[in-house]
Amino acid sequence: MNAECPSCRTVLEVQTGANSCSVCGNVFSVAVPAIAPTPARKNHGVFYYVFFGVLSLIATVFILFIGSAMLAGCIEGFNRGLENSRSLSK
Ligand SMILES: [Zn+2]
Repeated sequence: MNAECPSCRTVLEVQTGANSCSVCGNVFSVAVPAIAPTPARKNHGVFYYVFFGVLSLIATVFILFIGSAMLAGCIEGFNRGLENSRSLSK
C-alpha cells in the first residue's frame, strides 16, 4: 500500500509497521489501515417501498384529479361557448 512520508510528503510504497523513507530517510510507522466503512448499499426495508408506493399512488391520483378538473373545465367552457353561439344565432 501507499502512504505519505510525514516529513517530506513523498508517497511511498510501505508496509504496515516501521518504514524508512527512501527520499529523506525519515523513519515512520504506518498504522494498520482502518477498514473503511463500506458505503453499504442501504438495505431498504419493506416500509421504504410501501412509503414510496403510497407516495406515487397519491401523486398519480393528484395528477389525474388535476387532469380531470382541467378536462371538465374545458368541456364546460366549450359548452358555454356553444350556448353563447346558439343564443347569438337566434
Ligand atoms: Zn520522506
